[in-house]
Amino acid sequence: MAIAKHRPSRIVINETAIYQNIVNEKARLTDGTDLFMVVKANAYGHGLIQVAAIAVRAGATGFCVAVLDEALALREAGFTQPILVLGITESQNAALLAINHISATVCSLAWLKNASLFLDAAHVKLPLAVHLGLDTGMGRIGFQTPTKLSLALAYLKTTKQFKFEGIFTHFSKADSTETGYFEKQLKRWCAFMTVVTNRPKYVHVSNTATSLWHDTCNGNLIRFGVGGYGLNPSGVDLEAPFVLQPAMRLESRTVFVKLLKAGQSVSYGATYTAQEDEWVATVPIGYADGYRRQLQGFHVLVDGHFCEIIGRICMDQLMIRLPRQYSVGTLVTLVGKDHGQSISLQAIADYCGTIHYEIACGFTDRLPRVYQN
Ligand SMILES: *Cc1c(COP(=O)(O)O)cnc(C)c1O
Repeated sequence: MAIAKHRPSRIVINETAIYQNIVNEKARLTDGTDLFMVVKANAYGHGLIQVAAIAVRAGATGFCVAVLDEALALREAGFTQPILVLGITESQNAALLAINHISATVCSLAWLKNASLFLDAAHVKLPLAVHLGLDTGMGRIGFQTPTKLSLALAYLKTTKQFKFEGIFTHFSKADSTETGYFEKQLKRWCAFMTVVTNRPKYVHVSNTATSLWHDTCNGNLIRFGVGGYGLNPSGVDLEAPFVLQPAMRLESRTVFVKLLKAGQSVSYGATYTAQEDEWVATVPIGYADGYRRQLQGFHVLVDGHFCEIIGRICMDQLMIRLPRQYSVGTLVTLVGKDHGQSISLQAIADYCGTIHYEIACGFTDRLPRVYQN
């Protein structure tokens, strides 16, 4: 997708916020605990390579990504830290993983055996580092029983093709005030761990929510994602032990301003009709940028005033009602602060009936990312 550099809409990333969130999280960890920054999905929309660099400066010692290509992009950019692919990589890519020193999530013995054939075929001498994923109740990926896990562990002992580097699980309700399900998963985790006799280098159970609100179960690695971007994983249910500083700002400028006469309508479907004469500005951003169409009726900030988004949001443009006439080129804040007022990703997510994760990573590549500190 072409990046729209010649248009005033852009995402501004506050590097200091990301840096500080990581430093604050690291300060809470016991000695010997590593923090891997989760930079999947273009670092939750914040920019993969830039965020990775900030994370290293702040003390992250590795990365988690969702797919192999994100890991390869980090290697291409020169990052030498450990990288774990959290999703399942197809076994035919085993050689590519090993050659690039990228660790794979493994959830079955069958995967190991298949990968072994592909490593042989490619004459790869390096061991492939694996983290065994355990399904303790997330129900997504992972070994489902201690018996299946022990068969894989036994297999790993018979071969030099793999390095048993890590073991982990993922909690599905660590961000909730209701802790019963978490406790259940924790019990299953402990049952799994009884069959692990040789503890690997990394044992990890914590995403952001788990690390903020739960015991990390003797783990020694945090998979720090959303908190690094300054977003509270629970939404507003639980308070974080330190102030999370949101890093993402979304701004634009008015490109057209007009007086809409009473009775005149705006945008597709003519769903909005002016009741009286009013000033209306057009802002060059739309749902093709990831600014969701459901946000009709929501607001942006102009000069410290909340201005309603009127009429349907188009693919590339939207209209807002101004409190008075403003000139073309006036700053419009869609996410972030303006004159003491602010609009959070959380507020946008609430309006859309979703979570801020989805809004943040939904902003498309057409929006330039600009970095400030
Ligand atoms: C995405 C992901 C994380 C990071 O979660 P946050 O809530 O953003 O901290 C950690 N672990 C796994 C397995 C994930 O898929």
